[in-house]
Amino acid sequence: MRDGTIVVAGASLAGLRGAEALRAHGFAGRLILVGDEPHLAYDRPPLSKHVLTGEVAPGATTLPGVGALEAEWRLGVKALGLDRAGRTLLLADGERLAFDRLLIATGARARPWPAPEEARLSGVHTLRSRDDAASLAAGLAARPRRVLILGAGFIGCEAASSIRALGLPVTVVDPEPAPLAQALGSVIGGFVAGRMEAAGVDVRLGARVTHLEGDRAVRRARLADGGTIEADLVVVALGAVRNTGWLAGAGLRADEGGLSSDGACRALDEAGRPDEAIFAAGDVARFPHPLYGHRPVALEHWGNAVAQGAHAARAMLHGADAVGAYAELPAFWSSQFGLNIKSLGLTEGADAVAIVQGSPRAGRFLAVYGRAGRTIAAVSVNAGRWLPAYEGPIRDGAPFPPITGGADQPDPEPVPPGLPSREAA
Ligand SMILES: Cc1cc2nc3c(=O)[nH]c(=O)nc-3n(C[C@H](O)[C@H](O)[C@H](O)COP(=O)(O)OP(=O)(O)OC[C@H]3O[C@@H](n4cnc5c(N)ncnc54)[C@H](O)[C@@H]3O)c2cc1C
Repeated sequence: MRDGTIVVAGASLAGLRGAEALRAHGFAGRLILVGDEPHLAYDRPPLSKHVLTGEVAPGATTLPGVGALEAEWRLGVKALGLDRAGRTLLLADGERLAFDRLLIATGARARPWPAPEEARLSGVHTLRSRDDAASLAAGLAARPRRVLILGAGFIGCEAASSIRALGLPVTVVDPEPAPLAQALGSVIGGFVAGRMEAAGVDVRLGARVTHLEGDRAVRRARLADGGTIEADLVVVALGAVRNTGWLAGAGLRADEGGLSSDGACRALDEAGRPDEAIFAAGDVARFPHPLYGHRPVALEHWGNAVAQGAHAARAMLHGADAVGAYAELPAFWSSQFGLNIKSLGLTEGADAVAIVQGSPRAGRFLAVYGRAGRTIAAVSVNAGRWLPAYEGPIRDGAPFPPITGGADQPDPEPVPPGLPSREAA
């Protein structure tokens, strides 16, 4: 397909990179990007890092390449509904956009604090968008007496690191026994906890906040054990929810966990059949990963949004058979508390982890995760250059622990990784 109309719903990373790939692969027709945010596509990773520390202005995060794309933009306009039979997207301003192909890249939003009236207290923030980051940065500039962060996942920990760097007192509360436990397990998470404490963060693990209290402005959090934490700024960092609500009634297989798609990024209908005209990419997509037994996975990784957007674009133009199944190895990075953490593969389901290079004591190491005797993931901490060597063993499902052969390295000692059970998640 070279002509016709392609509409992209969600004008952020996956949508932009998908649109660029359409042009790069020869699409010469009409290309329209619809985004509910008023901004041109921007980068989210800096929002919890250099934007919070004040080193980068929120407005300086626009993604490179936005201006060069030959496309029509509908910004500040939400896609409200999808008429699949009529191949039409309904916009909040009443416009109906007919399409030959649609790329759904509506991503995810921050999971809100579950009690809406408490979430509305001033001083309670989430962190997903540029506007969220600007509002949080303004709150921090007022020098709150204590910042409370709910959730020690990547965004909670990165925010804690940035806010400590501003010299503000920070408490982090998480029900798991370690930060980053869902993604890395409590063995590696325990190392990160040590760094957080060394940086002066009050880390409360195995604890749960039940209520936020205050009169108009938040004043304190109440814990399940009856204790309280006084805080005048709260960051709710409880993970993300996929933006699929607007697809209600469209007959697609979609829920808060994502929009199901096949290996060629085609959206699946409720019966599990691919829709030849509708594609999904980025955080919103839940797709079968060939490296993980084709089990559906939904990622929140920058690199996935880029690669999957491009894969979907090629499938739109050249057909599903021509592109094959999307099989990019999941990868992400994080920087916090002086640690550069990089990951390849998925740790989910791992039954063992072994430190195969370096050591936590030295502050740089590489940990490999195994499942049923096979290598499934690797994480480097301040040792990114060691990581690429593990891509092959992960792709091949090489025996775990992988034989490193390093003469200066003792034999790795696998231990249970301390990943929470999925039921507890
Ligand atoms: C604070 C923060 C830090 C991060 N740091 C890292 C990191 O260090 N490393 C890493 O690998 N990843 C990181 N990520 C994750 C990474 O940014 C995401 O994976 C990436 O943004 C996903 O891109 P996307 O385009 O799929 O979705 P999104 O970026 O969520 O974009 C979706 C867009 O669609 C819009 N939209 C939603 N619904 C509609 C609708 N109905 N109509 C129109 N538009 C709609 C949304 O408003 C949004 O603009 C971070 C994310 C955040 C929030």
